[in-house]
Amino acid sequence: MMKAAPLPATILFVLSLALNLWFAGVPDWRWIPAALAAWYIADLLSGVTHMIMDYRPCTPGVGLAEMFHYEGSRESADYLALRDRVLPRISPFERLVYDFKNHHPRPEALGRRSFLVQIGSTILFVSLPFSILLNLLCFALPVPGWLIAGAVVLTIGGTVAQYFHGTLHRADNPWIVRAMRRLRLLMTPEAHALHHATLRQDFATNTGWSNPLVNAIFRLATSRGWLNEEGLEPR
Ligand SMILES: [Zn+2]
Ligand SMILES: [Zn+2]
Repeated sequence: MMKAAPLPATILFVLSLALNLWFAGVPDWRWIPAALAAWYIADLLSGVTHMIMDYRPCTPGVGLAEMFHYEGSRESADYLALRDRVLPRISPFERLVYDFKNHHPRPEALGRRSFLVQIGSTILFVSLPFSILLNLLCFALPVPGWLIAGAVVLTIGGTVAQYFHGTLHRADNPWIVRAMRRLRLLMTPEAHALHHATLRQDFATNTGWSNPLVNAIFRLATSRGWLNEEGLEPR
C-alpha cells in the first residue's frame, strides 16, 4: 500500500535540494551546530508524526479492521480481494495512518520494502513542497548559509525517516547505517524495541535524541484525552 513517488517528482526533489545547497554557499563552522540541531528536529518530527499516526483513529466500517485482523495468508486471493475492495474507499493519507498501525503486529514488512517506496509518501506530501518553498525563499531573501544548510539537513533527515525506521527492522543494513549507529547519529534496534513493547513510548525513530521530549508530549496528550488508546487499532 505504500508507493514510491513518481520518478519525475523524485528527480525534481533531488534537483531542488541541490539548488538549496548551492544557495547555502561555502561551508563554515556554523554549519555543524545547525546540522546537529536539524538532526534533532528531524528526529522530533519523526516521533511526533509517528505518535499522531499510531493513535489517530482509522475510518470505521470500511473494512480496515477485517484487513488488520485477517487470519489467513496475506498473499491469498481472498486477502488481496479484500484489500482491493477496502483501499479505494480511503484517502492516501488514511492509508498512511493504517500503515502505521499495521506496522505494530507486522514490523518486519517495513524493512522489506525498497528505499524509494519507504520514502515515497514523505517526498510527495512533505519534502518536495518544503524544498521548493525553501528555493523560493532563497530567491527572494538573503537567507544565511548556515540556516539553509540546517534546513537541507532537516529535509534529508525527515525524508529518510521511514527508511531509517525500516533499518531498525532488518538485519542486513548498508555500512553507512552501521557507522552512523556507532556514532550515535542513528538509534539501535534495541532502543526501538522499547516502542514496540508498549506502544506508549519512544516514538522517535531516527536518533531517539528527542524521545524524552516526545514521551513528555505523549503523557500530556493522553492525560488531556487528545490521544486515545482506541485509535491504536482499526475498528
Ligand atoms: Zn508505533
Ligand atoms: Zn518499528
